[in-house]
Amino acid sequence: MRKCVVVNYAKRMHVRHSLELPVDLIGLAKKYGTLRFIDIPCQIDGITANLKVPGTKPTILVNKTRPKKRQRFTLAHEIGHVVIPWHMGTIFDITDAGVPDGAIDYWDMEAEANAFATELLMPSSWMLGLLENFNNPAEINEKMAYEANVSAIAATLRLKTFLPPGYIFVVYTSDGKIAYSGRTEGTHASPPARGEDQRAKEQYGYAQDFYEFHSGQEHYLWIEFPSEVNITLDTKRKWRDVLDEILDDVTDSEEQKRTYKQQVNGVLGYANGVVRRGDYNERSLCSACIQRFNGKEHLKPITSHLKFEEFLSAKIRDLIDKAGR
Ligand SMILES: [Zn+2]
Repeated sequence: MRKCVVVNYAKRMHVRHSLELPVDLIGLAKKYGTLRFIDIPCQIDGITANLKVPGTKPTILVNKTRPKKRQRFTLAHEIGHVVIPWHMGTIFDITDAGVPDGAIDYWDMEAEANAFATELLMPSSWMLGLLENFNNPAEINEKMAYEANVSAIAATLRLKTFLPPGYIFVVYTSDGKIAYSGRTEGTHASPPARGEDQRAKEQYGYAQDFYEFHSGQEHYLWIEFPSEVNITLDTKRKWRDVLDEILDDVTDSEEQKRTYKQQVNGVLGYANGVVRRGDYNERSLCSACIQRFNGKEHLKPITSHLKFEEFLSAKIRDLIDKAGR
């Protein structure tokens, strides 16, 4: 995808038309083609017709049965199809999953139009301004949705790409189920899966802070993880011995012990990867391990054990010693 190029088209459009937020998409669309809001009775959000046909203005059709903010995103997306020079012909924007296999070109164009729409509606320069001296992602998320007149989830997905490592977001529907979740790039902790109804606040005990807001029926939660955790235990013991003691306390079954060991090693394999990449210290490695263990319900008996921190401390020292050799 020629994403940078596409994003630049949206940036130039802001400059050329001196656009302000929320962007007047209707006024903008009318400069480039014929715009109509119509009732489209199937799972189509919008249609752009007659793209790059000499002597003809393109036509943009938006499905007016969709929620208002979704229509706005669709319209921004259709303007993208009109402006991006290599998008030709007539494009039907289907938002349902039932897309034919092998339609790679279609998805490339869709991704490009979405990147254009995102930059048009929520410009990078505006984002950077909002994020100066920021401390509360929920507050920014809400402000973005309001000022840009986009859905809260569109703002969430945009915000996610601007925040540093160490953030997870979770969106709950009114019945407590998870509708969306995700994490910023470089975050060690895994977000809870869609459809689950876990209460993330209980699940992520090691989080540094929780930030939340409501949008309609949905509950938005941003979770911040500490980039460094200090375990001050200065253990001289071997991590294997400490782990064996923990396992003896947790279960009598040798088979279960083996399973636990495999699972623990699986999680710690990730820490190994962090060490190999080289950008770590004892405290950041500790945070990475804790984030990975956190939320793994099946390992709760181990991670809640009194000696778990001693084990982790010994293991981290061992990892760092080995890497130094
Ligand atoms: Zn499209």
